[in-house]
Amino acid sequence: MNVSTSLRAVERFREVFGDQLQINLPLSRYTSARVGGPAELFLVVNNAAELETAVELAYLQRISYFILGGGSNILVSDKGIHGLVILNKAKTVSFRHTGASVVCTAESGANLSSLARQCIAKGLGGLEWAVGVPGTVGGAVVGNSGAHGSDMNSHLLAATIWEPGRGTRIYRNDEMQYAYRDSVLKREQGKDIWRRVVLSAEIELMLEAPEVLAARADAFTSHRKQSQPGGASCGSMFKNPENFYAGYLIETAGLKGFRVGGAQISEKHANFFVNDDEATAEDIRTLFAEAWNSVREQFNLEMELEVELVGDWEFD
Ligand SMILES: Cc1cc2nc3c(=O)[nH]c(=O)nc-3n(C[C@H](O)[C@H](O)[C@H](O)COP(=O)(O)OP(=O)(O)OC[C@H]3O[C@@H](n4cnc5c(N)ncnc54)[C@H](O)[C@@H]3O)c2cc1C
Repeated sequence: MNVSTSLRAVERFREVFGDQLQINLPLSRYTSARVGGPAELFLVVNNAAELETAVELAYLQRISYFILGGGSNILVSDKGIHGLVILNKAKTVSFRHTGASVVCTAESGANLSSLARQCIAKGLGGLEWAVGVPGTVGGAVVGNSGAHGSDMNSHLLAATIWEPGRGTRIYRNDEMQYAYRDSVLKREQGKDIWRRVVLSAEIELMLEAPEVLAARADAFTSHRKQSQPGGASCGSMFKNPENFYAGYLIETAGLKGFRVGGAQISEKHANFFVNDDEATAEDIRTLFAEAWNSVREQFNLEMELEVELVGDWEFD
């Protein structure tokens, strides 16, 4: 979509959302790598009903949309994103006892790490692995995020999902087709401009003593601090190939500390590409291309990106 040719669409959004809609807003402050050009249209939604209204409206007006959670698993192009970027701040959370367990229903814009901490304080076990994982519940449901031997797949009972042209329905866990950092929704990335949208998720939790849960979470946090760099990054750049760690392969290829512009392959963990000096998205792209090529040459392995490239990218 081009805003100048779709003023009617913009007006329609303004009628419904007023000042929640902005034009040409730089996205770097909304991504964990702190890079990314502007969103042509940028809309903040504050609850699941608004999220549903926004995607429905975009779909009916034939405007492409992108759901932005914590921006912690994406690399947004320096040229930005055409169409509508919807920043998801829908974060209402509720709990219900079912007898044997407790089910948490979280709107998809809820911060995953805060939710994990809230569960620990309530003596509800299951999400301790998520205390150090940035981003939203929605992003984790899509990417089957996980750490320390657990993941979303192990705890998600169901997700309420809006489907373009069809409306909303509940997906059971088995319909999500989960695999390592993968799901039926993740497989739509880069293929469809109108993708399914997670409105909320039901997560199963078990009663456990808060101090036991807190101790487990603390151990995970200190392990993360020891093994991963702080600062601006997209987290793990590549998925671990079968039987290998991507970080080990990149390190063995001799690229720890390798720098392009303001971006550097972390000295601490070679699968983290850190923006430590006003990097551009292009710096990071050049850096991961170098890592991918070097690993292929030296190990005959083609690594797969864990991070999603979003927006306008030109490839040679
Ligand atoms: C320092 C650091 C550490 C990390 N550690 C881990 C880790 O241990 N384990 C791990 O798995 N990941 C890790 N990550 C990656 C990231 O935190 C997770 O993938 C996270 O779940 C992404 O959520 P998000 O809200 O930031 O998604 P975003 O990056 O905003 O979006 C990712 C994709 O999901 C889509 N999406 C987001 N919300 C919705 C929705 N409601 N409906 C439909 N689509 C949606 C987006 O459109 C996009 O395609 C780390 C990242 C960083 C920066």
